[in-house]
Amino acid sequence: MLLVGDNPASQVYVRNKIKACEETGFKSVLEQYPASLTEAELLQRVKALNLDASIHGILVQLPLPVHIDAQKVIEAISPAKDVDGFHVASAGALMVGQPGFWPCTPYGCMKMLESIGYTLRGKHAVVIGRSNIVGKPMALMLLHQHATVTICHSSTADLGQITRQADVLIAAVGKQNLVTADMVKPGAVVIDVGMNRNAEGKLCGDVDYEGVKQVAGWITPVPGGVGPMTITMLLMNTLKAAEHALPHA
Ligand code: NAD
Repeated sequence: MLLVGDNPASQVYVRNKIKACEETGFKSVLEQYPASLTEAELLQRVKALNLDASIHGILVQLPLPVHIDAQKVIEAISPAKDVDGFHVASAGALMVGQPGFWPCTPYGCMKMLESIGYTLRGKHAVVIGRSNIVGKPMALMLLHQHATVTICHSSTADLGQITRQADVLIAAVGKQNLVTADMVKPGAVVIDVGMNRNAEGKLCGDVDYEGVKQVAGWITPVPGGVGPMTITMLLMNTLKAAEHALPHA
């Protein structure tokens, strides 16, 4: 894990990932650098880790300081060690349905749907958010499972009119209370990816949990929902990377 700078949220995320590694018996190595680290220095570290046979997965914690081009750093990671699934090769593999690392957050959402035995075929799934790390890969994963998928975003007109059609509603925006009970179809599955701080500084999602749980058939809380699943899928991807790296007889 490479952590550059002192973003407090990033420090919490990295700490949680290290804890999960300790609990499951994965070896984790944290390399922490000051915000003054140059892009060239970071690229050099990534390249060294690509060649290090004792490291199976490389994770560069985002966001990076503004003087570093995050995409350039992600593209420097070997696709074989891209356990975050952000490399363009991983994104392309997901797009065409080839084997590759899937981004951990949407992958975790798919695992949750699988765990409740939900059949996506023929269902209408609505994803709010179109980022490369959550919204877009989420939509593709749902599509691979034969859902009819709608992606909403900041320019979508009349969000509620679309979300009310959703059998599965996934909110990945970063706005507290964006999704309220009147925007949810009765019985729908609601997955809240959002991570926000409310006025009291407490962690909350994009969904008005108390209101929406009266309407939804199934709903994930924040904290304790998508967050832990994201870390679990990171471990899954890392295990897969390690297995692929094993010399096979
Ligand atoms: P992002 O800022 O890259 O993307 C947000 C998306 O929301 C954009 O595509 C934008 O078009 C859309 N949007 C903004 N305002 C909107 C509105 N009013 N209506 C509809 N769409 C709107 O964010 P991201 O990286 O995709 O993350 C989204 C949220 O998920 C954040 O709260 C982030 O912290 C959280 N997140 C959680 C985890 C986890 O492990 N639980 C992982 C990644 C991201």
